[in-house]
Order: sequence, then C-alpha cells, then structure tokens
Amino acid sequence: MNRNLTQVFNTAAIHENCRNPPPKADSVAAEPNTPDCPLELDPAPPDEEDHRFDDVDWQRVPHLQRRAYEHSRGSKPSWIYLYGWPVWHRKYNKKYWLCSWCHLHKKLSGEFNVELAISSAAKHLGKDLTGHGYNQDGKIDRRMSSQPSLLTHMQASGVDVSQQIANEMAGSFSRVQFLRAVTH
Ligand SMILES: [Zn+2]
Repeated sequence: MNRNLTQVFNTAAIHENCRNPPPKADSVAAEPNTPDCPLELDPAPPDEEDHRFDDVDWQRVPHLQRRAYEHSRGSKPSWIYLYGWPVWHRKYNKKYWLCSWCHLHKKLSGEFNVELAISSAAKHLGKDLTGHGYNQDGKIDRRMSSQPSLLTHMQASGVDVSQQIANEMAGSFSRVQFLRAVTH
C-alpha cells in the first residue's frame, strides 16, 4: 500500500515535470538530468498542443485565433497541419489554415478557408516554391514530373533527341547525367 502510494506520487511528480518543464528547458530536448517522461502518461499531449502555436505572431493576424484541429471521423488530423496551423477566422467565422512558412516569412498569402475542404490549402502547399512543394506523402519529387515537359520542350525546339536518350529520360532521370550524356 505504502509502496503503491509512493509510486503514484513519483509518477505524478514526473507527469507534472512533463507538463510544466522549467522555463528554459522546454525547447531544449537534451537536458542532461531531466527524467524521461513515461510514454503512457501522454495520451493527448497537453504540452504539444500548448506549444504548437508558439511561433504564431498573433499581432500580425488579429483576425485569426487558434482552434483545435478537427479529427475527422475519429481519425488523425489532416496532413496539411504538418505544415500549418489550425485557426479560426474571427470575422468570417470559418475554419482557416495558416501556412507556417508563409506566416514565418511574413507573406500575406498563407491563409486558406478549410471550412468545407482542404483543397485550396493543399494546392498552396503543393506549389513549387521555396518552403512549399508538399503533398500528403511529404516532399513532392519533381524530377519525374519535369521529364516529359523538358523532353517535349527540347524536341519542340528542334533538338534531335535520340531514342536512347529519350528512353533514358523516361527512366531514372538525372539532369546532371543527362547533360553529361548530350554534351559528349
Ligand atoms: Zn505558404
């Protein structure tokens, strides 16, 4: 009984440490003497939820406020929230998504209505721009998708691309290898 109580107390103390880490330690993962937080104490990590909006400069977006991301049909949150924040538009009263990269880089184009669908936010994330270029599978590999257009462009420009080279371009493409091959 006593042993159990001690155990409960210790567990509670560790849990409290996890919830309220010392001020300077919360962003430093490798604090030498911090006991590891037991995994089973983390069913819905309060810390993670509390800190996920830390980088939002609310003064720059006074029309937005934080919201809990939706769990559609009990599943995990949409992949777009890996790259942006779930926010609530205070004026339009709608669910919005704020692009992390755009917000952190002070771009004005990073707010998207996700009330009905995430498609506009997903399209924005998929753009071939610095800090973007993601889909639900992660970083989009553009090498494959750029091949046909490069090949088409070259052939349309009157460049005589041999069948062998064209076939190689349709295979595993390396721009460097290709340029080396055609400049020989
Ligand atoms: Zn963006």
